[in-house]
Amino acid sequence: MLETVDFYREILDNLYDGIFFVDTDGRITYWNNGSANLTGYKATDVLGRNYCDIFKPLDKNGNNLCEIGTCPIRRVLESAHLTEVEAYVCHKEGHLLPISIRIAPVREVELQLVVAVEIHSSNSPRYAMRQRLEELQEMAMHDPLTGIANRRFVEISLAARLEELKRYGFPFAVLFTDIDNFKQINDTYGHTVGDRILKMVSASLAHSLRSFDVIGRWGGEEFVTLLVNVKHENLFGLSDRLRKLVEKSMLTLENGETVGATVSIGATVAEMGDTTSTLIERADKLMFESKRRGRNQVSLELREG
Ligand code: GH3
Ligand code: MG
Ligand code: MG
Repeated sequence: MLETVDFYREILDNLYDGIFFVDTDGRITYWNNGSANLTGYKATDVLGRNYCDIFKPLDKNGNNLCEIGTCPIRRVLESAHLTEVEAYVCHKEGHLLPISIRIAPVREVELQLVVAVEIHSSNSPRYAMRQRLEELQEMAMHDPLTGIANRRFVEISLAARLEELKRYGFPFAVLFTDIDNFKQINDTYGHTVGDRILKMVSASLAHSLRSFDVIGRWGGEEFVTLLVNVKHENLFGLSDRLRKLVEKSMLTLENGETVGATVSIGATVAEMGDTTSTLIERADKLMFESKRRGRNQVSLELREG
């Protein structure tokens, strides 16, 4: 039993996010390293103390949630419902940190309610990605099937990146990606499985990008990706990594059958004289070059030096 406890403790301690437990009286009973890294307080500073004294969660107007009677942890202790909130907390060094808090009720052996609190910085890449997706949904710039950005958003982002390239010289690259033999996937397995493959491919691509890169669905089974701060010499490696990740993705159907997909990619670095259409046309042409060379390939234009 003790070994099991140690095992879970080790897992929790090694998580990047902050996790802590609070008992019915509001006392902190467990505090992992992630919580310490995020807030500056070590476990020895906080164990046995009331979370409100340490944590001092504030809403976006600076009101102390514990003082105005809307403390989310108290609410979960009373209602036993999972809650998620955005708040500011006070770092040990005094500054305020924007964080996401997720509070889950956990019933302990002695039938006492304990809550588990998960916190992570609102500045983390994962959070930035989620925020951006929510913004896109609000602005009707996401593709409902795949959940990634739509063509309109890609066009707007492309125009912004081109402007930055011309003003400040920030380099970026464009990838045109098309699923191979997708018609055959639809014909063999049906349109519903085709849709699931589209989602699988877009998720594999989207999850392997950095939070400031952009991927959108350009049309049927075509995607356009903008990779920020990428030069020609790194482009093949980055693009080929995406190609391989799609190749390794596998959808398992209800009958146990597995369906995979591959993509052909055309990749090009933006140049000073480019417009949105010259860039997309060049990447699209290179994508066709990958199709011509047998599919499941990456093509770049040849460059000296
Ligand atoms: P290639 O390797 O040359 O790209 O062959 P392909 O079969 O992928 O190319 P083609 O352009 O002939 O076919 C694209 C197919 O994508 C045809 C269309 O029915 C299908 N498609 C487009 N949008 C969707 C969608 O939202 N869902 C599904 N299931 N299929 C779609
Ligand atoms: Mg196509
Ligand atoms: Mg295709």
